[in-house]
Amino acid sequence: MSSNFADVLVIGGGVIGLAIAKSFAAKGREVIVLEKENTFGSVTSSRNSGVIHAGVYYDKDSMKAKFCADGNRRMYEYCQKFNVPHINTGKFIVATSSNEIPKLEEIFSKAKYNGVEGIERVTGNYVTSKEPLVKCIEALFVPSTGIVDQNALMRSYLGELEESSGNIAYNSQFLKSEIFENKFCSTVLSDGEEIIIKSSIIINAAGLKAENVANNILPLDQKHIPKTYFAKGNYFETGKDLKIRHLIYPIPDDASLGLHLGLDLGMQVRFGPDVEWVDEIDYLVDKERQVLFHNDIRKYIPSIKIEDLKAGYSGIRPKLKNKGEGKSDFSIQGEQDHGINNLMNLFGMESPGLTSSLVIADYVCDLMD
Ligand SMILES: Cc1cc2nc3c(=O)[nH]c(=O)nc-3n(C[C@H](O)[C@H](O)[C@H](O)COP(=O)(O)OP(=O)(O)OC[C@H]3O[C@@H](n4cnc5c(N)ncnc54)[C@H](O)[C@@H]3O)c2cc1C
Repeated sequence: MSSNFADVLVIGGGVIGLAIAKSFAAKGREVIVLEKENTFGSVTSSRNSGVIHAGVYYDKDSMKAKFCADGNRRMYEYCQKFNVPHINTGKFIVATSSNEIPKLEEIFSKAKYNGVEGIERVTGNYVTSKEPLVKCIEALFVPSTGIVDQNALMRSYLGELEESSGNIAYNSQFLKSEIFENKFCSTVLSDGEEIIIKSSIIINAAGLKAENVANNILPLDQKHIPKTYFAKGNYFETGKDLKIRHLIYPIPDDASLGLHLGLDLGMQVRFGPDVEWVDEIDYLVDKERQVLFHNDIRKYIPSIKIEDLKAGYSGIRPKLKNKGEGKSDFSIQGEQDHGINNLMNLFGMESPGLTSSLVIADYVCDLMD
């Protein structure tokens, strides 16, 4: 069995793992990222909406609220500096009935508290003047929302990591780790062979599998490992440019932001994600959900036809609260939480994890320093 050494071992080559890895490498630390798949970011980081969120919805003073508002600014600066394709589309959050107005007001005041810049209340007629297919009675306009090419973003993070002499090992699955003489000794299944990697620091950024990874780090106490629930989000696609140029969001509920209208960088319209609680990771989209999608979408686009909606892709949110239990925040746990020096576990890294990735990376590096 061969043995290697890294100063920092990052488990998971998704958008958050890569952002953290490049930040450590930029500080001159020797970094290895372990990725069990044969490429980076192929799990949740490429199965999302690609939205640069503004930070509207998140509970006051939560990590999500703080990281997202800051992450939004940082993401635009980063994309401009490194030529990552993105568009600042702006978005409308639409109320389609009068009983949704109190919720709209609540979102408005939360957004202002969270520091969302430029948000304003607009009339339904104003929305229709900008987006003729969309009907509502009142809306919030959020100018700082946009979209980004997630894969180009991750390629850029990876490029920075490699320029600072960091590495990513594909087909390399973390199995377990124990502490020996103040170092983590991790067993990794790499291209079918078990190897040992010793490191000073472990960052568990394994996304949907973060709970599983944490369970295999000794002597981490189980009471510090939250249970992760899976909330699948399905998308239905139109495959068309409907000449809509803003993202359109209905009023959210506790588990999701509602069945919204998203755009890719070619302006093709897709809807979702919805929420389907699942026990296993399975990305098949059930065509039967088309009716549920149509019922929700036609509230704000009355002209949408059911046959316009084709089953698309799906992604799975790692949730720290189960169905009906309400919202949860990111859970980023270091020594102050679990008592083990130089170990950081990231749990529940759902939306807005993509938007917040640069800020999360700095937060983790600063805590470790
Ligand atoms: C439907 C949906 C829509 C979303 N929309 C948005 C959005 O519009 N904007 C936004 O900001 N956020 C959005 N998000 C959230 C965002 O996608 C996530 O926060 C982000 O991708 C999480 O990145 P990650 O690196 O933590 O996880 P992942 O991308 O899942 O990466 C974890 C990696 O760890 C690897 N791994 C797991 N176990 C092991 C192991 N034992 N050994 C080695 N490697 C391992 C996996 O293969 C994986 O590549 C959305 C999420 C979902 C599900």
